[in-house]
Amino acid sequence: MSARRNNYENEYNERDKAFMELNKRKMAKEKKRRKAAAMLKFMQAFVLALFGVVLFAAVMVFALSRDFSKSPDKLNFTLSTLIDGKKHAVNDFSVYENECYFSLGDFSQQLGYKIVGDVNVMTAAFDNGDKVRFNIGTDIVEINGNKKFLGHNIYFSAKDANVYVPVEFFENTFDGIVLNISKNGKKIDYTIEFSNEEKILKSTGNLPTNPLDKSLYVLQASPESDFLADLSAYEMYMNPEDSEEYIRLINTAHPLGADYVPGDLCGVVDTRNDRAQQKMREYAAKALEAMFIEMRANGYTDVSVTSAYRSYDYQSQLFNNSLNSFRQYYDYNTAYAKTAAQIAIPGTSEHQSGLCADLHNLPAASQQFESKDVYKWLVSHCADFGFILRYPKDKSDITGIIFEPWHYRYVGRYYAQKIMKSGLCLEEFCEQNGVGI
Ligand SMILES: [Zn+2]
Repeated sequence: MSARRNNYENEYNERDKAFMELNKRKMAKEKKRRKAAAMLKFMQAFVLALFGVVLFAAVMVFALSRDFSKSPDKLNFTLSTLIDGKKHAVNDFSVYENECYFSLGDFSQQLGYKIVGDVNVMTAAFDNGDKVRFNIGTDIVEINGNKKFLGHNIYFSAKDANVYVPVEFFENTFDGIVLNISKNGKKIDYTIEFSNEEKILKSTGNLPTNPLDKSLYVLQASPESDFLADLSAYEMYMNPEDSEEYIRLINTAHPLGADYVPGDLCGVVDTRNDRAQQKMREYAAKALEAMFIEMRANGYTDVSVTSAYRSYDYQSQLFNNSLNSFRQYYDYNTAYAKTAAQIAIPGTSEHQSGLCADLHNLPAASQQFESKDVYKWLVSHCADFGFILRYPKDKSDITGIIFEPWHYRYVGRYYAQKIMKSGLCLEEFCEQNGVGI
């Protein structure tokens, strides 16, 4: 009995064992299956990540290898010199930011200068004492102290330790050198022609503004050809050689002072006939005369000058009259503030410079002038005569003066075109370019 029982027990244990074995295998299988599933999931994620990396790499390779010469404003340049009628290719030239550059070292022999300086300022020093300073990283050169803008930055190349200058630098910089430009589709050929005569540095004369902003042919065209009237006699006044003389910023922060009186005041021909003849500085008066001639040629015949030069004393008188009127109703400080909002504090009025004029065709200066056709003509053409709209509509917070569609300031064509094109007011322009202050 006991043996049987033992048998039972054994059988029981055997069965248990078998069951447990089966269970164990089942669990192992399940574990294996789970492991396989996890592995599969991991592999899926890995493949997906790999695919992402490959896709990213493909996009990068595509972007980097893309032929950007196909973008619409990309131009090809060649540069050569013409010496005694023979054409030579210039080896050391460069294209940077879509502009053709030559290295300063290239022409040091032909032009007879030594280069001295560092990576901030490089100077080409001529035997006769002439100097051209290249302010690296800016588009400013100083030709015997006269600041000029090249329209493209001068840069230093560490590769060959050379300073690179926009090729248009040649234009108007030297006598005895001619820069020929020919454009054929997207290809621009520059040829620098050296004549036998002595190459003399021009100490004045304006360098061209960014030639790629417009067609190169506009740059070459003489500006007076755009006028209906023959203004050739006025050209020297509209485009003065010494632009620096007329760019001076005048405002409350930069006053002229009580004793400033310009030495070259002249009568303004187009003064309104119910006023005493107004005065301006000679160049400004002549350039304004040219603008009026051209205005009439375009059919605008009823505009005249109501106010131009005002002396410090006259400005004080205007200011005090207004102040006294306000004083009847306000305390001194309020009256002063109210006056200053309308009339320039003596010494801070641009009218004291003799470089500006108020002109319109209304009974009195008013913002209504903005709606006149002649105003639109003035805004788009005044720069050609050397004038800027001094107090634009959207700049009152900077100029401190309300929008004055009637007030035009003479700065010379070079700066006027830059300012009117930039949309900056004089304050911003002077600040950004380090001129006039
Ligand atoms: Zn004015």
